[in-house]
This record gives sequence, structure tokens and C-alpha cells, in this order.
Amino acid sequence: MSELQKLAKDRAYFKWRLSGQVLPIQGLRSSEIELVNQIEKLRKQLIDGFITNSRVLGLKAKSRCFCGRAKEDHIDKCKRCREACDSM
Ligand SMILES: [Zn+2]
Repeated sequence: MSELQKLAKDRAYFKWRLSGQVLPIQGLRSSEIELVNQIEKLRKQLIDGFITNSRVLGLKAKSRCFCGRAKEDHIDKCKRCREACDSM
């Protein structure tokens, strides 16, 4: 495995863990909920910039649709999901 492949694997694992994180807020004080909200905001920033940062590191990162297929950067869904939504 090359250095770039290892980097891509490590970053994909990190993003997977970060994206799947759900923080329950039951039983927290308002000051704690405020901190959780800050964490969520930072997490969203990390996820939103992830593709760009991967490309800066030299990886051929592709934007992904929620279904997992590659999509164009500026469009929210892949072609197949857009067609499925349009036919509803
Ligand atoms: Zn899709």
C-alpha cells in the first residue's frame, strides 16, 4: 500500500467515524447543550471541507451522493437519485 493509499484509507476511516457520530443531548444542562452545539458546528465544518482538504493533500477525492455513488461537486445528488426524485 502506497503512502497516498494509506492516507486515503486513514482519512476515509476518520470521515466515516465523524459522519456517523450522533450525540444524544438528553439529561444535559443548557451549558452542556451549548458545548454540544459547538461540537456539531465544528464537525459539520470538518465534513464540509473534507473533499477539498483531501484534494489539497494530493488525493483524488470525489464528492459522494448520500447513496454512495460519485456525484458532481456542485449538485446535491447523483444522476440516478435525481432521476428517481424527478419521477416521483
Ligand atoms: Zn445517489
